[in-house]
Amino acid sequence: MPEQKKQLCVLSGPSGAGKNTVYDALCKRLPELAHTVSATTRAPRDGEADGVDYYFLTKEEFLRRMDADEFIEYVEYGGNYYGTLKSEVERLTALGKTVVLIIEVNGALRIKTLFPEAATVFIIPPSLKVLRQRLRDRGQNTGRELEARLKIAKAELKKRSEYDYCVVNDEIDRCVDEIYAIIKGDDPK
Ligand code: 5GP
Repeated sequence: MPEQKKQLCVLSGPSGAGKNTVYDALCKRLPELAHTVSATTRAPRDGEADGVDYYFLTKEEFLRRMDADEFIEYVEYGGNYYGTLKSEVERLTALGKTVVLIIEVNGALRIKTLFPEAATVFIIPPSLKVLRQRLRDRGQNTGRELEARLKIAKAELKKRSEYDYCVVNDEIDRCVDEIYAIIKGDDPK
């Protein structure tokens, strides 16, 4: 029987692995994709807009929503909270979208437990050296934050075998081709 097109896809990988770049390229080929906008307590970076990149919440508001059971999953990462709102997944599903969650490892594995039919994809950077350079080039983190992100990245890489698929992002077009096939259900797995 031919594989079914995926309705829910989780993209993970260390900060700097290129998840958002890959997602943007995928959207050009699959206009039915839509990603959930997560909530976070971290401060907006230059150019980030509330409701577009994240819902930027105070810690009090985040905790209130946690208590109200508004999240499918949430984590503490690098000293801030991040979470996927149930309302986001419901909104996009109602629009008939293929829902993509771009989230870190613990959240991703939680989603797989809740939705076994979801495709979980781990994007691997070509090397830690390249990852460090990409984070530096982004210029969004202090030296200490950058080291913290690299430490988390090493821990995340150890969990990659728990994903359905691992794709190396050494060459963006090939990486996008592979994930395109996974979402379309054309992958060999
Ligand atoms: P950043 O601060 O660079 O935007 O995100 C830090 C990490 O948090 C990234 O790996 C990102 O994918 C992840 N992240 C963003 N939103 C969520 C979320 O709702 N849940 C989880 N578990 N991780 C998230």
